Amino acid sequence: MDVINPRGGWIEVITGGMFSGKSEELIRRVRRAEIARQRVQIFKPSIDDRFDTKRIVSRDNRGIDAIAVSSSQELLANVVIGVKVIGIDEVQFFDDRIVDVCMELADAGVRVIAAGLDQDYLRRPFGPVPALLAVAEYASKMHAVCVRCGGPAHYSQRVAGGNSQIEVGDISYEARCRQCFEPYRALSEAKAEQAKLQAEPAKAQAEPIKIVEQVQTAEPS
Ligand SMILES: [Zn+2]
Repeated sequence: MDVINPRGGWIEVITGGMFSGKSEELIRRVRRAEIARQRVQIFKPSIDDRFDTKRIVSRDNRGIDAIAVSSSQELLANVVIGVKVIGIDEVQFFDDRIVDVCMELADAGVRVIAAGLDQDYLRRPFGPVPALLAVAEYASKMHAVCVRCGGPAHYSQRVAGGNSQIEVGDISYEARCRQCFEPYRALSEAKAEQAKLQAEPAKAQAEPIKIVEQVQTAEPS
């Protein structure tokens, strides 16, 4: 989306499931703003430590510098004077006050571009993203390619093992369309995880459950 409003100040949300190209789209929009010589800042939650802590890296390995922050208030505190565009990646991991922060920035004339998952692997609306979608002027729903049928995929199926994804820890995901999504499998994955955490409570506290988009290597056949 390349909206032109010289007075500035609005919210764009780029959302969808895993592997749908949200970070790529965020990077594309931010690069266009940079070409237009607008002052840009990118933020990401510090929980997302994959690949590189200071950069947003898309699957085609194009990166862009980002500031890792631990809360919405820390994000706000790091905004520099004169910034025109603020990009936020993995926005689903921020606290709920990120919505107010985005509103405050947009009211002040900043173009805010927030990218993140709209649903978790049980298809539940994810963190502050639903509220952000409600207040955004523009919303883009991105789709991945379903690994089963090749159709547009709206969901992230959690799978234990499999060969079409890189696993981090014990958790891996596949992009699935509505017809190919298996709700009972998602539930049983959740139950298995819960049982495992109950068996190892100390480990559960040390390593909170993260749902982070991972690299999908294989294309659907
Ligand atoms: Zn499918």
